[in-house]
Amino acid sequence: MQYQCPKCQSRKILPVANGNTPAARPVVPKSLVFLIPLLFILLLLVVISIVMWIFSNGAGQTLQIATVVVFIATVIAGVLFWRDLPDFKISMQSFMQANKNWKCRDCNHEWQI
Ligand SMILES: [Zn+2]
Repeated sequence: MQYQCPKCQSRKILPVANGNTPAARPVVPKSLVFLIPLLFILLLLVVISIVMWIFSNGAGQTLQIATVVVFIATVIAGVLFWRDLPDFKISMQSFMQANKNWKCRDCNHEWQI
């Protein structure tokens, strides 16, 4: 099993649906579904806080509370994802092995395993 394009050796490959059976998806843990948006929100809040510290008299109390709440939620989601990670890895591996049809995003080459 190779995780790269046989033609251009790119690693940007996509699973392709096989005929009438759609491409199987790996089971994505719920913690990851929460973790990614939380990370974005946290980053946004931190950036807003920094901007407010620079251009005004510091971040407002609401913003500070929101940042702390989102930070705690992110840490919890991070810990949960850490616990889900072994299962997620197994799920990803079996998905990669089960999928037979692949397409390269760089050269559009399609191939079967
Ligand atoms: Zn390619």
